[in-house]
Amino acid sequence: MSEPLEGQVSTLNDPLFPAKQYAGRMTNVVLIEDDAELSEALARALTKQGYTTTVAVNGLNGVKTVVESTPDVVVLDLGLPDISGFDVLKMLRPVTTVPVIVASARDDDADIIRAFDLGADDYVTKPFSTAHLAARIRAVARRSQISTPEELRVGELYIERDSHTASLSGRELDLSPKLFQLLAHLAEREGQVVSKKELCTEVWDLPFVDTDKTVDVHVSWLRKALGETADSNGYIRTVRGVGLKLVDPR
Ligand code: CA
Repeated sequence: MSEPLEGQVSTLNDPLFPAKQYAGRMTNVVLIEDDAELSEALARALTKQGYTTTVAVNGLNGVKTVVESTPDVVVLDLGLPDISGFDVLKMLRPVTTVPVIVASARDDDADIIRAFDLGADDYVTKPFSTAHLAARIRAVARRSQISTPEELRVGELYIERDSHTASLSGRELDLSPKLFQLLAHLAEREGQVVSKKELCTEVWDLPFVDTDKTVDVHVSWLRKALGETADSNGYIRTVRGVGLKLVDPR
């Protein structure tokens, strides 16, 4: 199935799996790749297939782009000019569960195993066709959508997504739809720091504006609903300058 990437762009369009089927919006892909020719060819091909793409040309830029733009999928090269792709994975994994596909010319087992151990979701060996990569992207995007659990339990906190109810120690919580979404989003990422920007885009579907207090206000309401304050070391913890996380306080 395929022409190698060098210089060519596959325009293959797969009507069975349009890229934008997920949650009714475009799938955003961040490419962390220092080979400009390759990343341009990939970005062009993926755009034609309905993805939006952002290219980062080194590792640190890549981490920054992923944290700021909360993409649906990351494609990561291992040999980057500043830090290695392995380092990028190490920096990303504590802060995001975004699916990462490692795309590398290295094909020995040790590298592949290391990438998976550091949290990669898939590994493709260069050279590959854009059609091949697009299929991998669809697969990891699909998996990450499907694996959203219906029920979440963190300590005494229990969340049921289909009935939109949450309870704490058996007592049902009185939450508005947004507070419920906020709680479920944090609980899904138990123990991970979630940025305000991610909450804005994922829970409110709004662009992030630094001065906007929407998230802060809702977080304080959510704390109140849980019987907590900002200093009470409960389920919701503020991570100064970064965001917040939900933990099991027991
Ligand atoms: Ca490279």
